[in-house]
Amino acid sequence: MTKRIAVLPGDGIGPEIVAEAVKVLEALRDFGFNFETEQAAIGGAGYDAAGDPLPEASLKLAKHADAVLLGAVGGPHYDKLPRDLRPERGLLRIRKELNLFANLRPALLYPELAAASSLKPEVVAGLDIMIVRELTGDIYFGQPRGIETRPGLNGQRERVGFNTMLYSESEVRRVAHVAFGIAMKRRGQLCSVEKANVLECSELWKEIVIEVSKEYPDVALSHMYVDNAAMQLVRAPKQFDVIVTGNIFGDILSDEASMLTGSIGMLPSASLDESNKGMYEPIHGSAPDIAGQGIANPLATILSVVMMMRYTLNETVLADRIDTAVQKVLAQGYRTGDIYTEGTNRVGTAAMGDAVVAALRG
Ligand code: NAD
Repeated sequence: MTKRIAVLPGDGIGPEIVAEAVKVLEALRDFGFNFETEQAAIGGAGYDAAGDPLPEASLKLAKHADAVLLGAVGGPHYDKLPRDLRPERGLLRIRKELNLFANLRPALLYPELAAASSLKPEVVAGLDIMIVRELTGDIYFGQPRGIETRPGLNGQRERVGFNTMLYSESEVRRVAHVAFGIAMKRRGQLCSVEKANVLECSELWKEIVIEVSKEYPDVALSHMYVDNAAMQLVRAPKQFDVIVTGNIFGDILSDEASMLTGSIGMLPSASLDESNKGMYEPIHGSAPDIAGQGIANPLATILSVVMMMRYTLNETVLADRIDTAVQKVLAQGYRTGDIYTEGTNRVGTAAMGDAVVAALRG
């Protein structure tokens, strides 16, 4: 069956890195992968084309596709637009519209890049963590929220800011199922991160995760408070296999974990809905400082295609093939500027894409 992939390149380096990922997709035709792509604008490009960071046509395309591949959005010349028209708003809206509640962020360190981490090589060598972050609930969306004038500390009226940390049982249950499912396909360990010693919301989170765990007897479930998890991630990160956590804790921990690998140009992500349909994108932004120069690292976007094959299109063999090809080009010494070290072969965006395609075919 022909798979439909919506391609949303976005802004800055977005179109450059997405072009390389599409090259890799094209090479998969040799292995019998049947697909069609259609491109649409998002972010600043959406604003330029249709006055909207998520044009109606782009949303429609994404909704009807089997999977979405996104580059990155944003740029300094859009920063003065009203908040609703800014590129980042298009991204938040598409995640919400597609109901992408489970955000998967791997932190994987390729042995060849161990020196790029800020931690000692022996602490991070072989690191392979998957963080599953709930993406559409929690304190970022809970009501009530706002800034109001109320009596303050000394009885005088003053402004008070407030947000609500809120999770329903069903919200926790569905993301827990995603996380257990992923743990089953990996090393079978799941750590649920919360702050149940202080927060009722976390207490419920923990209770529901334990309830869901009964359906996954092969997965070893553990629990950790978020402050300890932040510490353990830099102290002994290899103790983790899969981490599942709420939106705000996951926001912070996934950034921390990604930096363990030292290179923002290498890290993909997936955001999934209830039926595993997903949007796939590198974790980095549109890098306006290097846009148009042909030097951006396309590997995070190519690895996003690996995740797409694995989690939405169920093409595990193809996922492994691309993964192996990426490992091969790293072993061959190909490096874009962001991961370059002396003695390796510095290449640009297109040459890196070509090298992956050659490794795939070779
Ligand atoms: P950024 O991730 O774009 O760049 C941070 C640094 O990393 C820059 O020095 C950049 O050159 C470098 N970098 C990023 N990706 C790279 C790659 N593939 N290869 C080589 N180097 C790379 O973050 P920023 O500078 O804070 O933000 C720039 C714009 O991107 C802003 O408008 C921001 O809002 C937007 N942004 C978008 C997303 C997204 O689309 N998901 C995420 C983060 C930031």
